[in-house]
Amino acid sequence: MNIAIYPGSFDPITNGHLDILKNGAEIFDKVIVAVSYNVNKQGFLPVETRIDLIKKSVEGLKNIEVTSYEGLTVDYARHAGANVILRGLRNQNDFEYELQISQTNNALWGDLKTVFLITKPEYGYISSSMVREIYLHKGDISKFVPEAVNNYLKVQ
Ligand code: ADP
Repeated sequence: MNIAIYPGSFDPITNGHLDILKNGAEIFDKVIVAVSYNVNKQGFLPVETRIDLIKKSVEGLKNIEVTSYEGLTVDYARHAGANVILRGLRNQNDFEYELQISQTNNALWGDLKTVFLITKPEYGYISSSMVREIYLHKGDISKFVPEAVNNYLKVQ
């Protein structure tokens, strides 16, 4: 079995994340979406809500599990029985950042590989932080996030 974890904050999940996830689920036998959190840092949405919204967004898709973890991604990957990390790349900035993380993770655990999928151009400018900013200023986020996220945030 080829199991990958797809780690990230997903605060909240966007259409860009979802695109990478759908493609990853076609490549791997299983993709575990792993919401990373830090007990000392409060995010925009509680971790349980982020998980719930990801689950609703992937309803009907095969090979996907959703969970959360704290601590080192390599430790979580090992614990989950995965030796691949799936990450998305939008642009040069993502690449610079991801290169360092990927090489660090590989130095920590030599069997761990990172597989990058390039986002579709129409999702290339979307980020969770941009979605939060638009939402906090009462703008329309429906183009950027799965329906479940839009519906949830509309009534908050
Ligand atoms: P992190 O805090 O770990 O960067 P994010 O939730 O922001 O977590 O991102 C998780 C992963 O999804 C990263 O690999 C990131 O590059 C990727 N990603 C984020 N937004 C997009 C997008 N619009 N298209 C493709 N990949 C994306």
